Amino acid sequence: MIDEGSPDFLTGYRDAKLVHSVIHEIKQRITQSWILMEICGGQTHAIMQYGLDQLLPDEIELVHGPGCPVCVTSLELIDQALWIAKQPDVIFTSFGDMLRVPGSQEDLFSVRAFGGDVRVVYSPMNAVKIAQENPNKEVVFFAIGFETTAPVNAMAVIQAEKIGLHNFSILPANVLVPPAMHTILSSPGNRIQGFLAAGHVCAVMGYWEYPPIADEYQTPIVVTGFEPLDLVIGILQTITMLEEDRVAAENAYSRVVSFEGNRAAQKMINQVFEPVDRSWRGIGEIPQSGLGLRKAYKDYDAERRFDSSGINTSESEICIAGQVLQGIKKPYDCPAFGTLCTPQSPLGAPMVSSEGACAAYYHYGRKTNDVRA
Ligand code: SF4
Repeated sequence: MIDEGSPDFLTGYRDAKLVHSVIHEIKQRITQSWILMEICGGQTHAIMQYGLDQLLPDEIELVHGPGCPVCVTSLELIDQALWIAKQPDVIFTSFGDMLRVPGSQEDLFSVRAFGGDVRVVYSPMNAVKIAQENPNKEVVFFAIGFETTAPVNAMAVIQAEKIGLHNFSILPANVLVPPAMHTILSSPGNRIQGFLAAGHVCAVMGYWEYPPIADEYQTPIVVTGFEPLDLVIGILQTITMLEEDRVAAENAYSRVVSFEGNRAAQKMINQVFEPVDRSWRGIGEIPQSGLGLRKAYKDYDAERRFDSSGINTSESEICIAGQVLQGIKKPYDCPAFGTLCTPQSPLGAPMVSSEGACAAYYHYGRKTNDVRA
């Protein structure tokens, strides 16, 4: 549809005419109501930004998945990060989004305001450099993210070992998409009939993990990109399978994603990390859904280096982020949405993050269940 050699290659994926023609095809094919989940918060924001939810036929309900790493990082890990960041002689480094995520009592911004050395970095490799430049300080990187950030987090640990850096560690917080899909699809309240899988995660991991999931839960899965044309093509492929009573894991993002993914990146992840049980904020513990450091790299584990046991966590009683992240409720169902909880004064992580569903609904004015309001 788009000439990949054309100078309009990327803008072509935002071409309104092409997007409308795919939506027309969806309308031709659809005969009944379907509920689809886009897993990634980046996809949620693109859907809202381009008004795709308002253009799609009424029969399609899009619910928003837990694919926002900032949103699902557990309160225990955030409180642990806050505690470490307050220790003397520590430089605590993190992606910018995490600084405003509320812990039980405060956020990383408040720690910085009260004198903590909290720095925003764009890559864990920047944190490695900070550690080299500050040999008398302990430098800790908050290693959040899905499978997308895991290779560079692994690379930072490998690099630290290679150059003999002993004042660098990471607080491991990476989470994995497939175990979360299992949890959503096997929950008693599950309403999801088709999945748009996150294209960037699959760019790293491929989509070889998805056919067994599609098969087990009889739910079509389509690997989908982030531009408006990518999204409507992903929706078209999912709807087509549902209407034809067919189940498979398909790839609608083949310009970026292959079945096997980036094997070199996967090798690096497996060298440094191993799957561990991990708690997801608002959802609870999901078996084998996180990445912990392997024994050979335990010296780089901030959890080991800093004894932060004895932290008591307390979650906001109003925030229903867990239900939003599982697609059970929409942000406007939360009594605090847009009143007690805003991007300027967030009560929960989905209102903070650039990928959070509550922030997307707030920024793009989705204040009721009428998407056309
Ligand atoms: S609007 Fe705020 S309080 Fe409500 S679910 Fe979203 S983040 Fe939580």
